[in-house]
Amino acid sequence: MKKHTATFCALVAVVVLLAAYQTVGRQSGLPAKIRIATGGESGVYHAYGDALAEALERRMNAAVTAIPSGGSVDNVRLLRNGRAELAFVQNDIMTYAYNGTNLFSTEGAFKDFSAVAALYPETCQIVARRGVNGVTGLKGRRVSVGDEGSGTELNALQILEAHGMSYSDMEVDHLSFAASVAAFREGRIDAFFCTAGVPTPAIRELAAGGEARILSVGDAHARSLISQYPYYSQQTIPAGAYPKIDEKAETVAVKAVLVADGKLSKEVVAEIIKILFSEEAVFPGGKVNREFAAEGLPIPLHPAAEAFFRKN
Ligand code: GLU
Repeated sequence: MKKHTATFCALVAVVVLLAAYQTVGRQSGLPAKIRIATGGESGVYHAYGDALAEALERRMNAAVTAIPSGGSVDNVRLLRNGRAELAFVQNDIMTYAYNGTNLFSTEGAFKDFSAVAALYPETCQIVARRGVNGVTGLKGRRVSVGDEGSGTELNALQILEAHGMSYSDMEVDHLSFAASVAAFREGRIDAFFCTAGVPTPAIRELAAGGEARILSVGDAHARSLISQYPYYSQQTIPAGAYPKIDEKAETVAVKAVLVADGKLSKEVVAEIIKILFSEEAVFPGGKVNREFAAEGLPIPLHPAAEAFFRKN
């Protein structure tokens, strides 16, 4: 009995100490755990999130984890429901969420988050079998338009719309990048949409087999898309960006933006900024460009990010 009491007291002491430690941590602006909402495990968000989590954990007294998801749309919802403190979100999806428009019109505006930095361009890549010619060549084919909860799917819808097409022109699947690659290899789909940084690991792996090409959206369609949806910009995927794909593709891109929950402290975001812009930073999307990072973001910057961009 005595022994049990002693053990119990020791346990209580540990719990009290831990609670005190966490409070100190919180008081100094450090939450006990930080969850970064990313995307499918073979996308760029996830690889980036893992690298960021590791770097952040090394600098702070907090457990930092990269959590997988369906992509941008899911990530906004994870933030909104308090299930993530940081998230990777496309600039178009982030704007729709902030304003409660487009695919967020039913759930309404979500304003309790801010931008830390835009990290790299995410290119709308339409990977197809060699025999498929142009976006209109997708008619009658079986196509994956992106995972449920992805930003990729909205880009697929808008690109199809710019070509006067819709889901009724094809057989549609909702697959992650990894599942799209597997289905393509097994002959179950003829094409898939993938909005991600170039090179995307899943596409690189598939391209090496020699059966894939990347379709061009083309200048006229890209312009009409941009005039309607200003979050896009024109982007060329150079020949040779992927093994065995030696034609360039003219397409459009959005931006990958790291966003923070409204309650995430200045201290944490300042640490993240230090990591992102440090000389030694090695992230999948390449070095973060200072101008690109703060340009054209239609939601407010986090105060710590704003202070950094004002000074630098
Ligand atoms: N931008 C993609 C989406 O939200 C995810 C990209 C990635 O996983 O790297 O659909």
